[in-house]
Parts: sequence; structure tokens; C-alpha cells
Amino acid sequence: MSETAVLKIGASRFLIGEETVNLLGEEIIRYGSKILCVGGKTTLPMIRSKVEGDFKDKGIRAVWVTMEEPNSVDYAERLKQAAQEQDVDVIVAVGGGKCMDLCKVTSDRAKKPLITVPTSVATCAGASAVSIMYTKENGSYDCSIPKEKEVDCVIADLTIIGESPRRLFASGIMDSIAKLPEIVNGREKMSYPEVNIYKHMAYINSQFIYEFLTRYGLEIYENPMKNKTLLRDVTLINLIITSMVSGFSSGSDQLAVAHGLYDGMRKFFPVESKNALHGEIVAVGILMQMVFNNDSGEEYKKIYEMMKKMNMPLKLIDLGVEPTQENLEKLKEYNMMKNSITEKGEIERLEKAFLAIV
Ligand SMILES: [Zn+2]
Repeated sequence: MSETAVLKIGASRFLIGEETVNLLGEEIIRYGSKILCVGGKTTLPMIRSKVEGDFKDKGIRAVWVTMEEPNSVDYAERLKQAAQEQDVDVIVAVGGGKCMDLCKVTSDRAKKPLITVPTSVATCAGASAVSIMYTKENGSYDCSIPKEKEVDCVIADLTIIGESPRRLFASGIMDSIAKLPEIVNGREKMSYPEVNIYKHMAYINSQFIYEFLTRYGLEIYENPMKNKTLLRDVTLINLIITSMVSGFSSGSDQLAVAHGLYDGMRKFFPVESKNALHGEIVAVGILMQMVFNNDSGEEYKKIYEMMKKMNMPLKLIDLGVEPTQENLEKLKEYNMMKNSITEKGEIERLEKAFLAIV
């Protein structure tokens, strides 16, 4: 017999449509009437103003918490205590990936259900069963924590998402595009049974994501509200289909050179890379990943041009880090360690990949 696999795919309930945040109250009363609602500086007041009236009508009481520090294990622990002391029935996370990740850990520790309200397409974290955590001290990368089970409910409000900054669209689109080159990660064959069923499922889904977003990504970036069907479909891809790819890939199997660059940047250069978004660093990492994979020049150019048209960073320096020998060495060593790159040929391909971003 093979080992037991524990799959956590999708969310228990995934609500998508215009003005769906108006259904937040209804979703909450499935579990109780008191919530701990955590959100970002701008997103929390925005959501609060939209739902407060309905909460009052339904008798829902809320403890509002503005997230003002990195999502650390320590922070999750303090929020867990607050949730228990206040005797809340459900945790609600509003905003971006860091808040979602923080609340996933809080929800598990406090043993309370979790509703997420992602406010942009720049986060598959709203529905994925894993949290990337940072240190309390300086916000550098700390660890990743698997969630016990799927998120209980995701509310994707297309009115809110459609009005989010375009920079977040670019970031989210590239983070999802990264799945395909990272899952391939230099392999020659991805067909079944050459790779196992999990890998193959992740591959097939990520191929669809890649094709869809390279075809329509720019159009949605240029005017998110113009085509509502496209807005819905890109939101579905980024918020749930991408998280399914994670669900099928066990552990860190889906992350390779591109996310290795991301982790390395947040570990060694948290201050320098502070202004770069997750998906922006990953995007630069995709350029590396494609060189590492020996992808065709034509395909590479397609991604490069797309990033350029979306005003995205293209080089290490654009992310705030000087490409000195010392800095490159740090990032390279870390990437090798993270991705178990030990073969001579692979190391050479990784070195070549770094040349693409200096
Ligand atoms: Zn990512």
C-alpha cells in the first residue's frame, strides 16, 4: 500500500458575484453571531461600512482588528487568545494574502470556522490550505503552516475586486501564471504515468491557467470592469482554481525556482524588497524559472513583454536589491537549498537563470 494522502482542495463554500459582501452576515449566522474580523488599514473600514447596517439588523456583534504588523505565529497566537476571551463564533479575514494567512493559523488554533473576503485577485491565499508566516521582528520569511482543513467560506465580491488597484491584478495574474513553469521545473515529461496522478492533475490545471491568463491577462489588467464575464473568470482562476493546483501538489512540490526567489528575497532582503508585492517578485522569478526550464525564447518573450506592458519589475534592481556578487550568491545558495538543486547541470541552469534578472 502507498502512503495515505490528505487532500485539502477548494473551500467549503465559494460565493462569487457582484456585491456578494452583502451576504457576509448570512454566512456568519450559519456559525453564530459574534465575529473577530481582521483586515487591512484600507480594506477593513471599506468592508465595515458596507456590512455594519446588515450586522445590526441580524444581531451580529463584531470585534474589529486592523492588521498593523507582519503575519507572525506570535500574532496568530495573540489573536487566538482574543478570539477565545471574546468568545467569538467565527473568524473573518478581509483584504490580502498576509491577512488570510494570519487568520488561517488563528482559525485553526482557536478552533473556529473561517470566512475570507479577498479584496483583489492578488491572493490565492483566501482559499488555499496553507499559510506563509513571517517573523515578528522584521517581517522576514519564517515558515509555512498547513491548515487543518479547507477554508469554510470564501466571499469573492466582484464589485470590490474589480475596483482594486491594477497593480494587484498584474501581481495576481503573474502569481497564477507561475504555477505551470514551477510545476514543470525542468522535467522533460509531465504525462501520466510518467508523473504520478497528483502531479499530473496539478500540471493539467496549471496549463489551463497559463493559457487563459497569457491570453486574457493583459485585457483584464487594462480595464478590469469592462468585461464582467472576464472579470469573474479571472477571479475564479486566481482565487479558486489556482488553489486547487496547490491542493493537488503535496507540500512544496508546486513551488520551485520562482517562489524560491520570493522566499530568498523576503528572508535576506525584507527591507529592500518591502515595496515589491508577492506576485511582482514571483514574476521576476518566472523569468528565471523559464531559463532554468530551457523554455523556448518565444515563450520567454511572451511573458517578458506581458510583464512590461503591465508595468511590472523585470530585474532584481527593480525589486530593490542590487545585483552584487554577494547578493546573488546568497539568493542562489538559498534557492539551491530550497529546491534541492545539487546536480552540476542544474546548478549551471540556475546560474544562467540569475543572469536573466541582473
Ligand atoms: Zn505565490
